[in-house]
Amino acid sequence: MALGTASVRTDRAPTIRDLLASGRRSYSFEFFAPKTAKGERTLWDALRRIEAVSPTFVSVTYGAGGTSREGTVRSTERIANETTLTPVAHLTAVNHSRAELRHVMGCYADAGIRNVLALRGDPPGDPMGEWVRHPEGVSYAAELVELIKEAGDFCVGVAAFPEMHPRSTDWDTDVRHFVNKCRAGADYAITQMFFRAEDYLRLRDSVTAAGCETPIIPEIMPVTNVRQIERFSQLSNATFPPELADRILAVQDDPAAVRSIGIEYATELCARLQAEDVPGLHFITLNHSTATLEIHQNLGLH
Ligand code: FAD
Repeated sequence: MALGTASVRTDRAPTIRDLLASGRRSYSFEFFAPKTAKGERTLWDALRRIEAVSPTFVSVTYGAGGTSREGTVRSTERIANETTLTPVAHLTAVNHSRAELRHVMGCYADAGIRNVLALRGDPPGDPMGEWVRHPEGVSYAAELVELIKEAGDFCVGVAAFPEMHPRSTDWDTDVRHFVNKCRAGADYAITQMFFRAEDYLRLRDSVTAAGCETPIIPEIMPVTNVRQIERFSQLSNATFPPELADRILAVQDDPAAVRSIGIEYATELCARLQAEDVPGLHFITLNHSTATLEIHQNLGLH
């Protein structure tokens, strides 16, 4: 992979900043870089279906612990070159020196990628394990935002946490850190997934009250099977609404009914958020397009 000089190709994809500023609500989808040939086919099948509904952008995650660096760059580059989609590449600071982070930014720039989601990342293995900064790396996402902005004319997004970051112990401090991250140069934020609109609205109100107007896009993930009830809470720290769990458990032997309840719930959540004038909706696909496309269609967006 060639090391670039972060000379971003300005004739290519628009920035998320410009797309949000256009005033149209953004609809976007998140994928992960596959590790196998079969996974690659699944990803591209999903991407082509999503491409057909002309989303605002699609994003590609960065493997936990920085494991899928090559895969993320490759997949994002292919999206930039072989589709009509606008790609956003995630980047985490885990196990990377500042020089390595700048190198990845050079690769993104060479691939024509202008949009990056800057994340601190979690320690490999145990996400709540001790965070150890690379001796020549950065400690917090705010520093990564600054590094990316210095590396070239990139549009940078950051993460937001409607139920507070799992490592934070008080709400006001977590909001202050988020606002500082925005002031470091973030153009927009995407939230951790959540299930109650109130959690998103509380965060938005607190951030606005702190004088910060960075657009915060809510992230949505429909429950499509029973196992996800526990898995989601473990992964994201998101409170799983007991009434939703009850409805799903009542039909747990009927996978189609479970899926249908999950999609109906996510559709209602999206509709409520649209009524609250959110700047966009970002759907986690797990590289399968059907559930999120159903929600998209239920919302009348096809
Ligand atoms: P930070 O903003 O640095 O915050 C981390 C913690 O430090 C918080 O508790 C914050 O309050 C605190 N903090 C911040 N600044 C300071 C300071 N100056 N002093 C003291 N404390 C401070 N992970 C991946 O590995 N790959 C991905 O692709 C990926 N994509 C994601 C996409 C989204 C939309 C979201 C919401 C998360 C994603 N994650 C991903 C997970 C993310 O990396 C973890 O949740 C990580 O723990 C938080 O990263 P951050 O960028 O919010 O960190």
